[in-house]
Amino acid sequence: MQQDALTFAINPNANPMPEADRLKAFENLGFGTLFSDHMAVIRWSADKGWHSAEVTARAPFPLDPAAAVLHYAQEIFEGMKAYRAADGRAVLFRPEENARRFNESARRMAMPELPEALFLEAVEQLVRADARWIPAAEGSSLYLRPFMFASEAFLGVRPSKEYIFCVIASPVGPYFKGGAKPVSIWVSEHYTRASAGGTGAAKCGGNYAGSLVAQAVAHEHGCDQVVFLDAAENRWIEELGGMNVFVVMADGSLVTPPLGGTILPGITRKSLIALARDLGYTVREERYAFEDWKADVASGKAKEAFACGTAAVVAAIGKVKFPGGEFVINSGETGPVTAKLRDALVGIQRGQTNDAHGWLKVL
Ligand code: PMP
Repeated sequence: MQQDALTFAINPNANPMPEADRLKAFENLGFGTLFSDHMAVIRWSADKGWHSAEVTARAPFPLDPAAAVLHYAQEIFEGMKAYRAADGRAVLFRPEENARRFNESARRMAMPELPEALFLEAVEQLVRADARWIPAAEGSSLYLRPFMFASEAFLGVRPSKEYIFCVIASPVGPYFKGGAKPVSIWVSEHYTRASAGGTGAAKCGGNYAGSLVAQAVAHEHGCDQVVFLDAAENRWIEELGGMNVFVVMADGSLVTPPLGGTILPGITRKSLIALARDLGYTVREERYAFEDWKADVASGKAKEAFACGTAAVVAAIGKVKFPGGEFVINSGETGPVTAKLRDALVGIQRGQTNDAHGWLKVL
């Protein structure tokens, strides 16, 4: 049962945040702590399919203690942003890519697919309702979190017969406390993130629950983020807890791990590959061993490295720590290729440079 179009009931929040409070909160934006006035919700049941679409006041969901998501973690999500472009327009960046990936995650988790048109409609309706929540300051945006979870009260292990899809919005500043400063990463020697045939390519909550302890170890070692190696050989670089990774070689080429089912197919990754090629760089999607990275940094063959994702956009990697040592990349500074790619991407997202690929959706 698939419905491509539903009429959204619009129920405006009767108690929106007062304008003065919102502006005050905008002065010191963190990441994911402040929320807008509304949420978009669509429900699914085995007998009705998708139904009851609405934009309503952001509020808790009443949830039965037997709701399947609380027991077997049938949950998926997306992360995307609405930007305030230089000319004041509200824009989304490649939202249809999020809609597509959401359904890939849904298939992997035995959840119903949401027609892409409905996903986009829900996101756009919410951004329209909460347009005043899109901050305009440099490095800030309205982070959008579409998600879906199993809401049926049933303790048997099988796919739920009821789901709730929801989009919430959070005005955000820079993802890392250090702002645009290069980040340090810890190479996880013990914990892996995903194995062949597992859920690594799906954006499901369970993947993140499993990564938290590895991230905690990274923090214990004074690092901002964890980088995972492959589960089979503990040898190949995969990705960070919430970002994909690129290495820039001295010959100007870029290397990034291939999408083999164990890493998340990042939309920032895909966009940067295209932008790098536009700028004349060779990009290789191929496996890269951690030992080679270490040797290549020592020999000068690898010059820069960066992590990328919706939340942090492009963050240079300045230091890599691993059990028994560490190495510094590009003297701990953001390198020229990293900066050039970041500027190219941010320029498009902010409507400052020509959107040659047609990636912006103007609302
Ligand atoms: N890898 C992981 C594990 C992530 O959570 C994310 C963030 N969604 C990314 C990579 C980057 O993906 P994107 O560029 O689509 O945000």
